[in-house]
Amino acid sequence: MRTHFPHRIITESLFCRNCRNVGDHGIFAREPFFPRSGTKKGVPLLCVCDHCGTFFVAFSHEFASIRTPAARPVYTKILGRNRLSPGDWLYMKDEPRPLKVKGIFHNAAEEIIVLKDTDGKERKVEHPYLKIEKEESPRGYRLFPFQLPEALLGDFIYHVPRNQFGSVVGFISDNAKDRVALLLDDDSILFITVPIAAQYLGNEKLERFFIEELREHFSPEAASFRILVRQGILFLQGNVPSFVRKRKILTFLSEQKLLRGVVEFLTVKPLQPVPDSQIENSVLRILEDLSLPIFNYSCTIQNGNVEIKAFCYSETAHALLEDRLALIPGIRSFSLRLEEHNSASLHQKSLSVARMLQEHPRLQGARIRVSGFGDSFFLEGFVTSIFQKRLAALMAFRYFKSLKLKNNLRVIL
Ligand SMILES: [Zn+2]
Repeated sequence: MRTHFPHRIITESLFCRNCRNVGDHGIFAREPFFPRSGTKKGVPLLCVCDHCGTFFVAFSHEFASIRTPAARPVYTKILGRNRLSPGDWLYMKDEPRPLKVKGIFHNAAEEIIVLKDTDGKERKVEHPYLKIEKEESPRGYRLFPFQLPEALLGDFIYHVPRNQFGSVVGFISDNAKDRVALLLDDDSILFITVPIAAQYLGNEKLERFFIEELREHFSPEAASFRILVRQGILFLQGNVPSFVRKRKILTFLSEQKLLRGVVEFLTVKPLQPVPDSQIENSVLRILEDLSLPIFNYSCTIQNGNVEIKAFCYSETAHALLEDRLALIPGIRSFSLRLEEHNSASLHQKSLSVARMLQEHPRLQGARIRVSGFGDSFFLEGFVTSIFQKRLAALMAFRYFKSLKLKNNLRVIL
């Protein structure tokens, strides 16, 4: 299992069932990604204890520190622990529920907070002004036990009945019950059982159910699948004839509410092998499509396994690219390593230079992407002659005088 997850993405403080303690865990992914740029929902990650090597699986959308498109978490600020802004939810002791902050005023000694009640009425709270130098969790806390079903690994929490702060350090399964592990401020570890409605069904029950479901929807290949379910996670092995088919199966499974997530080991075995050179041509044509928000790209292809590295300037790039690549016949797998870079001033300039090149009569038949980043600008795409390659560089140079040129234009005849 460990060899399938070679890329260490982050380190998190998590509960290890073998050490019976909280310690650093390496979070490993099958494909590298930058936590800052985020990743998709449902990406399986292996959490490996740095101390003893014991591991378990969690998913990208279950971590507070990884940005995924689905995450819209609700956090509540706590009086005395957080700096407040209008619009925040604020929890005060002895209040039945958090209230919305409308405004804050303070003088040297006192702070006056205007709050909005659930019935829309305003009220003021005055208390001695306390300057907060450093916030432990600037975005606030999850209120436990009410927000337990939405908790993410690494979330800071406030346990209301116990009046204690802590953080979420694990989702574990004991005696067939799903529990959330908390590390409290006094260094004790607390296990809270997840409400019955949010518990995952038993492993065998889920296995039987999904064997039937896959056979019904994905015949004939599903007959060869091997399925294992542990703690709401489905592990899937087998062969499929195409990448498109693999995606269909994974999309189907990702929509299943009964599962926490899927770890797949599906192998694509194309019915008719396609030469790498032909796949490369199709991949380059997609990368050269000017409507995709990418630049500074490179790709390698080996036995139908495609690896692409690129910069992008929109978080939609990953999904757009993946949708297009999946349709190429003969692809067995692909790895996309996109790094998000935004340079608004260079971007506008690049677009106008690209338009100018596009309209030039001597550059007919070419498709040229112009982009700038740092101290360089890039020319990518294709031209029909060496002359066009030089002309494009010369013309672009007039507008990017102080920048270095990376001319990656392909000459196709
Ligand atoms: Zn351990």
